[in-house]
Amino acid sequence: MGITVWQQRQPDADADADADAAVAAVPVATRQAPATPPAEDFDPSVADWDTLHASIRRCQRCELGQTRTHAVCGTGSRIADWLIIGEAPGADEDASGEPFVGRAGQLLTEMLRAAGLQRDQVFIANILKCRPPNNRNPFATEVQQCRPYLQRQIALLQPRIILAMGATASQNLLQVSTEVGKLRGHVHSLELGDRKVPVIVTYHPAYLLRSPLQKSLAWADLLLAMDVAAGTQS
Ligand code: URA
Repeated sequence: MGITVWQQRQPDADADADADAAVAAVPVATRQAPATPPAEDFDPSVADWDTLHASIRRCQRCELGQTRTHAVCGTGSRIADWLIIGEAPGADEDASGEPFVGRAGQLLTEMLRAAGLQRDQVFIANILKCRPPNNRNPFATEVQQCRPYLQRQIALLQPRIILAMGATASQNLLQVSTEVGKLRGHVHSLELGDRKVPVIVTYHPAYLLRSPLQKSLAWADLLLAMDVAAGTQS
């Protein structure tokens, strides 16, 4: 149409910086159309799964986009009843692009298996999609910037039950500052359109690795979640 559209350079799109710079200098009109709109124009609230995850992978909403290796969108079944939410990727997840693959992830996988659930039967995601350097706690601004992604994942998944693991996941999901020890053991809920999704809070697997005596409480939380998911408790 005679209009030249310039596209912002995506830092993690290409490994070779020189080639990247050369590509960035070419008008988009002469190249193949991008699969998703520029990150700053992207509205997660209407995205489908693939578009959402493509956008997460190239997100630069906060500074973690500069330091991550891979954004970690989430993994598992997109029609799962269970949504399991952790805090943020660690080193192993940043390297692989998949949530909960390190030691804490192995414990989570074992706990799920003990409850009769395989990883590919649930959906596993995090509050933050990118790793905070040195695994520091997420900043409130980062959580805020990342929130629309998880909100859209929840809306797309329409889970029967949400298991929030640890303080960051449970407090941000429920918008409270209550400690995990007081939140666990109750059935909370999250409004999703005209229905309420039950939320069960439990300890983060990384905490359980440091405090194995608390594993029995986490097991009780998992049993509660199973009862609620099965509709035998509300
Ligand atoms: N801890 C988390 O909270 N999430 C992961 O994906 C890995 C470790």
